[in-house]
Amino acid sequence: MPSVPAVDPAESDDMSTPGPRLRGHHLICLQFVHGGGHTAEFARNVLRTIDRLTEEEGTVVTGPDDLCEKCLWLVDGACVNETEGEDIVRILDALALQLLGLNPGDAFDYGTTSASMTRLLEQWRDLACAGCPSEDACAPLIELTCRFQPHE
Ligand code: SF4
Repeated sequence: MPSVPAVDPAESDDMSTPGPRLRGHHLICLQFVHGGGHTAEFARNVLRTIDRLTEEEGTVVTGPDDLCEKCLWLVDGACVNETEGEDIVRILDALALQLLGLNPGDAFDYGTTSASMTRLLEQWRDLACAGCPSEDACAPLIELTCRFQPHE
């Protein structure tokens, strides 16, 4: 896994960036997690974000993003997810960005990112999914996506 700088929970990107703001691992996980295991407000926000991403470019951010904003695990600007937490989440963010060839601050097109993501999904599953609280919810769709890779 790539190294990740020490976490300063106060460190987050400018909230005024145009378009939906996503942290690295959400560029991949948003394809599979639609709010299961979270609150209804979180689920609605996920769907709203996906909807926006079909119409406008998103921006890669460091730290909490537009999805985290409605998550009960976001406390004082840091993820306090009991199995992951901000340190681990930032490692996953860095891994996802490395695989996708993106950097914080980059604009991204959700359709293009989705296409790239399907090609690296098996690698992502092997490196990142084990032990994630959403693993069981995501597994069937990830399995299907891996099995029916588009032919080059
Ligand atoms: S669990 Fe953590 S990384 Fe995931 S949406 Fe919530 S605050 Fe963000």
